[in-house]
Amino acid sequence: MSEAARQIPAVEIPSKPQTFTAKAFAARSATNPLAPFTLPRRSPRPQDVQIEILYCGVCHSDLHQVRNEWKEVMPTVYPCVPGHEIVGRVVKVGSAVKKFKEGDIAAVGCMVDSCRVCASCRAGEEQYCENFFTLTYNGEDKILGGVTYGGYSDSIVVDEAYVLRVSNKLDPAGTAPLLCAGITTYSPLRHWKVGRGQKVGIVGLGGLGHMGVKFAHAFGAHVVLFTTSPSKTADAMRLGADEVVISKSEAEMQKHAGTFNFILDAVSADHDINAYISLLKRDGTLTRVGAPEKPLPVSAFSFLMGRRRLAGSAIGGIKETQEMLDFCADHDITSDIELIPIQRINEAYERLLKSDVKYRFVIDMASLK
Ligand code: NAP
Ligand code: ZN
Ligand code: ZN
Repeated sequence: MSEAARQIPAVEIPSKPQTFTAKAFAARSATNPLAPFTLPRRSPRPQDVQIEILYCGVCHSDLHQVRNEWKEVMPTVYPCVPGHEIVGRVVKVGSAVKKFKEGDIAAVGCMVDSCRVCASCRAGEEQYCENFFTLTYNGEDKILGGVTYGGYSDSIVVDEAYVLRVSNKLDPAGTAPLLCAGITTYSPLRHWKVGRGQKVGIVGLGGLGHMGVKFAHAFGAHVVLFTTSPSKTADAMRLGADEVVISKSEAEMQKHAGTFNFILDAVSADHDINAYISLLKRDGTLTRVGAPEKPLPVSAFSFLMGRRRLAGSAIGGIKETQEMLDFCADHDITSDIELIPIQRINEAYERLLKSDVKYRFVIDMASLK
């Protein structure tokens, strides 16, 4: 027997990595305001990147989850540190990291891991991982145990396979919302091949909706923005809409009956979805990305007539998220933001509920120091 064959292979004994303390803001219950909190982050393993968080966007999903509005599907574990639109600076890399070095600007979105072996993961669609991907927050922390904590924090440690590169052409604060609002609108518009010669509707001018308008415009479609807020009309046109429809006006809605190839519904609250289905052409598709707390009633007839389709879409895979960030760098696209200190997060949530954000709150994490 050769020398090599007699060697006993080294056995890796799984052990919890060391941790360090990070500052954060957390919700202690569904009714408590967010308040200061400290949490453990793992010291980087060989494949990990440690990021000092500079900016974190405020997604309406943060509010849904902080208030446990999705309890049927993903009940919230408290304390909950939300935040999945993260941009920061790499401060440490593990010995096996290839894509990043200290000082790079990097980003993290809604997932920090997935099973990597199922058909969806192998197809680069980790957001549909059959074993469910690890949410950036309110997910199962498979390394430290307990729950994952998100980006309303001064640092995060993530396997480099789930970290995105950010071009230095992009403004880092305006880039943060691309990690959720950006990819969640980019992905369905690409999947349904929205482009020139098509009439496309975007419903709701919030964080997602305003990115939907920008991307649909950049892809060359004729873009119609539906809003409940007449005061957003001029902004919608500036962001790239060709027309704006005040959805509360039945007469205005009727003018567009049967004319849309594709509609993206990014509304966060209860609304009449049938009113939009009837605006689709034959074989048109309405894709929902908005995730209100309660189910919306759907009339069979609005679909039967015209062989119309109702679809859904969730964020995007890592490869597509990188493609989207690179597209944004090439086309000078970022989010329109209101930069806030973390101490104003509870006020920001109240404004989100009133559809009063232009068009994404982003937390300046320097305020956490
Ligand atoms: P947001 O910034 O609060 O925007 C939501 C917009 O919906 C509002 O600005 C408003 O636009 C419209 N709206 C609100 N209440 C309405 C009502 N009662 N009737 C009609 N329109 C109403 O929220 P967001 O961060 O863009 O998120 C939107 C939704 O997408 C949330 O439910 C969120 O959880 C979900 N989401 C899903 C995914 C996914 O992967 N599928 C990812 C991220 C977020 P107007 O003022 O223009 O009417
Ligand atoms: Zn989000
Ligand atoms: Zn998987």
